[in-house]
Amino acid sequence: MKLPALQRPRRRPVTDVPFAEFDLTALAPGTRWLVCETTACAHLTRRHTPAGTGYRCTTCGTLKGDS
Ligand SMILES: [Zn+2]
Repeated sequence: MKLPALQRPRRRPVTDVPFAEFDLTALAPGTRWLVCETTACAHLTRRHTPAGTGYRCTTCGTLKGDS
């Protein structure tokens, strides 16, 4: 019996392994992951950078109060 192509193990070169890309500007000191209460962010946890007394969402730009 011959195996179909999809069931054959595939060998991939090491250099082809994807790796995470980091945005250095988003890793500013004080950056926190907070829940964004906007529909634009669908109430998901987004990256927030310090802004004044609160934190600003890096996705939609909404300022979240310090609570
Ligand atoms: Zn947001």
